[in-house]
Parts: sequence; C-alpha cells; structure tokens
Amino acid sequence: MSHRSKGASAHTLGTRPRGVGVLSVHEWDAYRDPQQWSDPTECPDCHAVYLGGRWRWAVAPEEAVQHRCPACRRIHDHFPAGVVTLGGDWFSAHQSEVMALIHHHADRARQEHPMQRLMRTDAHGGEVTLETTDMHLAHGLGQAVQSAYKGDLSARYERGQTLMRVRWSRQS
Ligand SMILES: [Zn+2]
Repeated sequence: MSHRSKGASAHTLGTRPRGVGVLSVHEWDAYRDPQQWSDPTECPDCHAVYLGGRWRWAVAPEEAVQHRCPACRRIHDHFPAGVVTLGGDWFSAHQSEVMALIHHHADRARQEHPMQRLMRTDAHGGEVTLETTDMHLAHGLGQAVQSAYKGDLSARYERGQTLMRVRWSRQS
C-alpha cells in the first residue's frame, strides 16, 4: 500500500512539534470533499449509502458504486478527527458510569449521523482516551459528560484545524 506513505508521519498524534505535520489541503479533502463520491455510493465496510448528497443508513440502490466512506477510511487509516481525554480522581472512581454515558451518546450520534463514530477507546493509568471520526462528535461527547457530571472541559483545534482535541476531568 502506498497511499499512506506521503503523509504517514503526520498521522502520529502528539509526537511532533507545533506546525509540523499539518495536513495539506489535498490530504484534508480526501476525507471530506463530496465531489469524490458518485451518487449513489455504498460503503463496502459499513454499508452506509451516499444518496441525495449525504451519507445515510439506507438500503443501497442497485446502481450504487462501491467506495469506502470517510468514517471507515479514517478508521482504516487510523486517522481520527477528534480526540477526547477523560481523567481525574473522580473519573477514575466513576469510570464505568461515565463510559456508559459516552457509549449512549456515541450510539445515538452514529444512528443520526453515519459519519460520526467512536473509532477507538483506550484506557491507561486512570484516564480514557477516545478517538472519533468527526470533530463535532468529540466536542459533543465532552459537553455531554460535563453537563451530566460537571468537571472541567476544554476543547481546541490542532493540526491546522483538522483535529479537535477535547479534555474533560473531574478531581472530586
Ligand atoms: Zn463505511
């Protein structure tokens, strides 16, 4: 596979100095430019259908072209659009409760917006890191946790505004 080689180093999060590894417009468009999909298109991985100008959960028309959707492409490339980190002593003690809320919110988002997916969950040292295929989902997950459990929430763009990094924590 050669399609990753050009920008592969930019796909490693958090290990490069600021300003290095920013995606070119061309690479960014690879995930979001609607011109690239025929209408209708069916994703062979998740079976979402691009129909009438947007991705939806539907039965694909017979004439649909097979092409991987942007969410599955990000999952395949391991290239999230959002990263949410949850931490703090209170969180460590209530992790399963908070994660149930996260999964509930993520499931609902996926139903309503096929391109908004939770793509990876990683627990380490009392913190949990979530990766999403969509910036709005990352922000929405952070807001859902804060509105339910208070705590401190911050969100900022990184990687030339192509990554939403969200951090929520509650200590006590
Ligand atoms: Zn897909």
